[in-house]
Amino acid sequence: MKRRVTRYNDRFGPSMSSGMTVLAIFLAAVVILSVYFACNAFPLRGSGDTAAEDLPEVAPPPPETEEMSLIPEELTARVNFSNADIAHGYLILVNKDHEYSFGGEDVVALYHNEDKSPSYGLATSDIACERSILPFLNEFLDAYSEASGDENVVINSGYRSFEAQQQILDDRIASDGEEEAYKYVALPGQSEHHTGLGMDIASWGENYNSAWLTENCWHFGFVQRYRADKVAITGISSEYWHYRYVGKPHAEIMMKENLCLEEYIELIRTYTYEKPYTFAAEDGTQYVIYSVRAVGSEEAETAVPVPKGAAYTVSGDNIDGFIVSAVWETSAAATETEGEETE
Ligand SMILES: [Zn+2]
Repeated sequence: MKRRVTRYNDRFGPSMSSGMTVLAIFLAAVVILSVYFACNAFPLRGSGDTAAEDLPEVAPPPPETEEMSLIPEELTARVNFSNADIAHGYLILVNKDHEYSFGGEDVVALYHNEDKSPSYGLATSDIACERSILPFLNEFLDAYSEASGDENVVINSGYRSFEAQQQILDDRIASDGEEEAYKYVALPGQSEHHTGLGMDIASWGENYNSAWLTENCWHFGFVQRYRADKVAITGISSEYWHYRYVGKPHAEIMMKENLCLEEYIELIRTYTYEKPYTFAAEDGTQYVIYSVRAVGSEEAETAVPVPKGAAYTVSGDNIDGFIVSAVWETSAAATETEGEETE
């Protein structure tokens, strides 16, 4: 299996369009009610919800009913994923509590790479990134250099092997001492740079506009990973230069809800296929996002439910399961449109 999966299931054919119209109307009602219930059952929270904590204990909530499920069983497909893939994908959490599992990296060197945009430079000739994020990195830094006029933006560091991280740590300890070194340099195995998804972006020019990078990175699927206001959670000192690719729509949600990756993964892990997190992106795309825990050993496979007809992506969380994001509108609402557009 590939590290990231995007599949398009079979769509309903035009011959089913009249039956589908009735079903679509029924589903629309279910969706509206379900979203209403879901929004009220899971109000998004920032760092705390004191109002809820102050309330006295009340009777337990009513038992869950079938009607509250957002995606009905007849619109559900199940796709098997290897449990080993918990450790792979755009959303894997790598930190001191969740070490990176080496093996299967697919990184590409950027030096003398004709697919690399000329809009940014490389601090050293060994800079590399996860192969599939190169187009997004290009888009991000093309847009930056155009907006800022900065022609001297450079990538200082990208993918690092275990040995490379050990060398960086050893060098830092030698120059600054252990205490200072451990504040900024992760232990080998615990660095996000092992994923190839984390890039250190800086500039040697006078037009350096780090605020633009911070404010706009989410448009390209990146987040500023180690922010000053999240040090207590990430355990890493503020690193305004470190950007992590998480993909769409996750970067947009993290930005809008002010969540670092640790908080975002924790949030999404509370949502299930039956009651997914729903999100309307600024570009108008409707998403459902949910977590599926792996079942069985690392050699086993887990059947992951996905909405039929929807484009979806699956990533491991590097904890114990998978996170699925699916474009919801194509699965039910857009099916009818397709019927009308028969050639
Ligand atoms: Zn970094």
